[in-house]
Amino acid sequence: METRIILVVGSILLCCGCLGLLTVRLSNPFLKGLGWLGGTFAAGAIGATIFAARANVSADAFVLLADTLILLAYVLLHVSFLELTESASLLPRLGLSLLAAQAAAYPVFRYLHDIRQMSVVTLGVLVAIQAFQSALFLKKTVKDGMEAPIWFSVILLAGFAAFNLFRSVVVLVLGTPSDPHLPNPLEAISAVVFLGVGLGLGFGVFWMTSAQIRIALEGLANTDPLTGIYNRRIFTSLCEKELSRSSRTGEPFSLIVFDLDHFKKINDRYGHATGDAVLCAVVEKLRNSVRNIDTVGRWGGEEFVGLLPGADSHVALLVAQRLRHNVEALTIANLQAKHILVGDEIGITISIGVATYRGPGDSIDDLIHRCDTAMYQAKAEGRNRIVATDRAHVIGR
Ligand code: GH3
Ligand code: MG
Ligand code: MG
Repeated sequence: METRIILVVGSILLCCGCLGLLTVRLSNPFLKGLGWLGGTFAAGAIGATIFAARANVSADAFVLLADTLILLAYVLLHVSFLELTESASLLPRLGLSLLAAQAAAYPVFRYLHDIRQMSVVTLGVLVAIQAFQSALFLKKTVKDGMEAPIWFSVILLAGFAAFNLFRSVVVLVLGTPSDPHLPNPLEAISAVVFLGVGLGLGFGVFWMTSAQIRIALEGLANTDPLTGIYNRRIFTSLCEKELSRSSRTGEPFSLIVFDLDHFKKINDRYGHATGDAVLCAVVEKLRNSVRNIDTVGRWGGEEFVGLLPGADSHVALLVAQRLRHNVEALTIANLQAKHILVGDEIGITISIGVATYRGPGDSIDDLIHRCDTAMYQAKAEGRNRIVATDRAHVIGR
């Protein structure tokens, strides 16, 4: 009796959840996985309702239908994970095989003495396999910013798989009560676990979806769309963090700012699209020239910046020299061969300003200002060179 109440309450909850999820999914196509989760809840709700009615209607077909719907709910949940993680295919191959196995096992049950026992054991094993596959799949997709919701779901799925196996073993060994109307604690606990885990995993999908949207929005807000590196806003805030770290630890750090020389000429002669390609090629050189711990960004237009943690003015100069040299090796010809006449090539060069943190009292604005001044000095002195303010160094070609 108590099992039936749990199932009826669970069905109502799952129905409401299903309607809510489908409405949210239809109104927001960015919320990945929620449509399939709605399907999970629908299959679970119908399955739970049939289970609740099963004590009265003991036809074998109901057993098969209820078991299949419960298994289907967890297969659809796996599809929801596949969509959420943007998998190439949404086809749940293992899930479909499990559903086929469930259908194939049923005719065999008919010749068995206790159909209820074998139905519980089989459903438990099949659901455990599906839950285990989903847990393994999700574990592989853990990435920055998604750890908490993914591990929450993985632990829930692994625990659920273990519970199902345990339940199957218990029922296999002890059998089911001969009178289905008698109270059955294992069945009541199972109903609570199935519904609770279903709702918990629904929450897990919601959590993962919202974390995914937050990561995507952060990416859009922090990244320059042309070159894919940090924009000025996030770069400045990373500089501020480095400044407070440096003033705490006493470790030096430096900034470099550089601007492409005569870039307007490149745009004018080869077109804006080639200009864009040049900017991307220069950024690639920038990435290759700095150390792993350095951060690079686009300050605006054809001006770029680099944050070099732990770099005193000597190290910063070495990085700047490597960068200037690498950019100088770029040619328009090897970027856009078809536009170029031999001997009619504009070289790609940069002028770099370098500034090193001077300790308490020095601010990021001051550092950027010193870099800018140094860079304009490099331009004034003939371009394609580096000026480091904090060593009064001028390094030419
Ligand atoms: P200088 O050596 O003094 O820096 O000369 P310059 O020609 O590089 O400087 P100027 O400021 O005159 O021109 C910068 C040009 O950069 C003008 C602008 O159209 C171009 N530019 C800025 N952002 C982009 C971009 O995203 N793509 C392209 N293709 N061009 C850009
Ligand atoms: Mg320029
Ligand atoms: Mg400029």
